[in-house]
Amino acid sequence: MKQTTTQTTTQTTKTIHIIGGGLSGLSAAVSLCAQGWIEAGGRIIMHEAGIRAGGRCRSYHDALLACEIDNGNHLMMGAYKNCLAYAKQIGGDQALYHPAETYFDFADLKTETAWRLRLNEGPIPWWVFSAKRRIPDTRPADYLGGLKLLRARPGQNVSDCLDPQDPLFARLWQPFVEGVMNAKAEDACASLLSHVVRETFGKGGKACRPIIAKTTLAQALVDPALRFLEAAGVEIRFGARLKKLTQGEQIVQQLHFATEEPLCLGPEDQVILAVPPQAAAQLLPGLVVPEGQRTITNVHFRLPERLAMGPWFMGLIHGQTQWLFLHDDRLSVTISVADHLNRWEPEAIATLVWKEIYQALTVMARSPEQFPGYDYGLVLQALSPKTSDKTEAALPALPPFRVVKEKRATFLQSAAEVMKRPPTQNTLENLYLAGDWTDTGLPATIEGAIQSGAQAARCLLAKRAL
Ligand SMILES: Cc1cc2nc3c(=O)[nH]c(=O)nc-3n(C[C@H](O)[C@H](O)[C@H](O)COP(=O)(O)OP(=O)(O)OC[C@H]3O[C@@H](n4cnc5c(N)ncnc54)[C@H](O)[C@@H]3O)c2cc1C
Repeated sequence: MKQTTTQTTTQTTKTIHIIGGGLSGLSAAVSLCAQGWIEAGGRIIMHEAGIRAGGRCRSYHDALLACEIDNGNHLMMGAYKNCLAYAKQIGGDQALYHPAETYFDFADLKTETAWRLRLNEGPIPWWVFSAKRRIPDTRPADYLGGLKLLRARPGQNVSDCLDPQDPLFARLWQPFVEGVMNAKAEDACASLLSHVVRETFGKGGKACRPIIAKTTLAQALVDPALRFLEAAGVEIRFGARLKKLTQGEQIVQQLHFATEEPLCLGPEDQVILAVPPQAAAQLLPGLVVPEGQRTITNVHFRLPERLAMGPWFMGLIHGQTQWLFLHDDRLSVTISVADHLNRWEPEAIATLVWKEIYQALTVMARSPEQFPGYDYGLVLQALSPKTSDKTEAALPALPPFRVVKEKRATFLQSAAEVMKRPPTQNTLENLYLAGDWTDTGLPATIEGAIQSGAQAARCLLAKRAL
């Protein structure tokens, strides 16, 4: 990447400083380049505090596991319009896996049952009338409970709309709420989730189609963006932490980075602040941001033998493990709202999760006819390569593992905190906010982050065309 040593922006080149190289900052930069900012003679500098881009959606080589891992598995959906457009624009779309149909495999650890939830493509949800497609032991009428979410009033949380005793709660709503909002039903803003329900279930199977990275998130969403930006002429500075902003009358005047003289902004220069909410609040005293943090924990296990099956994932009910991502070289587990595990030793978490993975795969492997297209038995066998029986292998020894606790994975997306999300522009004329915590109308997700960056770029260009 190009490193810039410039300390004071030239007064003649209109420069946009993007602070933060997470998905929102990358998306802002990509949008500005795509709309010709640099071609028209402008300049873009991205300042990222860390040593790599991607922020909360990053990948790196893990020496213990001897492979590339993501800090956390990320599930995307067909409804992620901004994300998919961004991936296409940067040339990362080929690194995303879309199954041909929309289905979700689940294992219930309490009842030791397994099923495939299969949605139909179009917006009329006739899948609920098919016992082979819907969740076992449920009736079509049970799905009407979801309509209560669509009528959510401001200030309500999901638990005000959905009953935890509802037969669908544990098997559908709970995994959906916790996966999308990283919050328990009692802490998850109902109107925010209802928007997601409209955009996904409300639009049919195509909008619900799960999308995952074929290998790593970086290969799909970060590295191609860096190549795109470099080719466009964006200057990218790593290890550049913004410490302070000096404000004049309704404008930002200076940017203070940790290791250099203050950088003075020219009269036409602009700033897009694409940092997490805590950092934004420190840099802009008085800015109201949503508070409270929720942890997402991921546990990655190195497979003793490489699979040749391509990426896939499944849900687990009634365990600590919520989602299991199956990669050719590793198994990775996601546990949302995982604050209760923050004090646990990594080994204790890995041991528990490993047992749950084994149990879930055993359940799945017992009824392969239910899961065409993915052979869970082969995965089970790969965990104990010496066992010939696919279905009844004994619990294999714990393989090398890595536990990643992201204690600030998302802000607390309760009805009260969601109301604090700020808009793209506040009172400073040359400053725009981006990030999954800003007022996107979406939960704190990849889609929200990418949308917020594009929105900051749009706002800026609407006011300051070159
Ligand atoms: C474990 C985990 C699992 C997740 N799972 C999913 C999922 O399945 N699906 C989904 O859609 N979303 C998921 N998310 C959420 C998604 O990752 C985030 O919403 C998204 O990455 C946020 O991007 P962002 O640009 O808003 O913020 P960030 O990624 O936090 O980017 C901000 C950047 O700013 C930099 N920075 C901070 N302070 C400064 C400073 N002072 N100066 C310069 N730079 C600074 C940071 O280093 C960082 O790179 C998950 C998140 C985590 C952590």
